[in-house]
Amino acid sequence: MLKLLDQIAVAGIAVIVIALATYISRRRFNRPQPSAAEPARPPACRPWTPWRNHHCTRPAPATRDRGGHGRGDGAGQLLGGVSAFQRNTAPLVRDELARLAREGQRPTQLFLTCADSRLVTSMITSSGPGDLFTVRNVGNLVPPPGADSACDSVGAAIEYAVDVLRVDSITVCGHSGCGAMQALLGSSAAPPGAQTPLARWLRHGRPGLARMERIGRLGRGEVALADRPVADDVERLALINVMQQLEHLMAHACVARRVAEGGLVLHGMYFHVAEAQAYVLEAGSGRFLAIRPEDGAPVAVCTSGPAAAPEPGKGGAAEALEAI
Ligand SMILES: [Zn+2]
Repeated sequence: MLKLLDQIAVAGIAVIVIALATYISRRRFNRPQPSAAEPARPPACRPWTPWRNHHCTRPAPATRDRGGHGRGDGAGQLLGGVSAFQRNTAPLVRDELARLAREGQRPTQLFLTCADSRLVTSMITSSGPGDLFTVRNVGNLVPPPGADSACDSVGAAIEYAVDVLRVDSITVCGHSGCGAMQALLGSSAAPPGAQTPLARWLRHGRPGLARMERIGRLGRGEVALADRPVADDVERLALINVMQQLEHLMAHACVARRVAEGGLVLHGMYFHVAEAQAYVLEAGSGRFLAIRPEDGAPVAVCTSGPAAAPEPGKGGAAEALEAI
């Protein structure tokens, strides 16, 4: 009898274990599948991390602040990212940020690039807090001096970087698939319409467009990629635009003066998003060279020193620009 009770007890325990295992297995592996009518949705992602394969095609759940006010989905995602920063990163960088706050910023580089979200300046330059004084706008454009005062923002940043922060390098960086370049190309064929802020701003890219139309599709030796043919007009204009904006930059008196004094060099850069590849403008040739892992400092397109010093009757800016 006791033996039978033992067998029943063992059998009962086995049934319970099997039932639990089945339940867990169903929970783990038999999650509800989307119906045929409901397209498979990507998993909800955490903000920024992992930003690799960041396939957030559906909005994050709306959140509510402490006052009960609903926030937009984008704001919720952004705040989630800030929260993750406070939790994970802030403890690691607080000491360094405190030092920078105590000592003030002393960046050695002005980096001027497009506002495009795929261009992450700190990532592609391996820089961190205090390294880059950054100016971003649509199309990485530099309004030349004398443009109307509505465009003073970029000029003010250049003046501050050159005369106050005393940076010793300025980089203008364009990129592949730039919407501003596409808009400029499209605008040349479009009938003149209402002048929106975007259309007005893009006029600073028109000299580059005119330059491209002048030299033609083959570049006539004025612009090229060293390693491969230029893919299309958008890429060609992005490259020419970098060269053109460097000229606008040199037209600013503070930049020309510091270059002539030997305290400032200019660089042209192009970042191809899909290739994850940066190219740097070679002095004098108009060729953009791919930066290799083993490469060191980029080549300056405007060298300073005696070669760039102004001659009588010839400005230092013009002299230096001959190298571009
Ligand atoms: Zn862009």
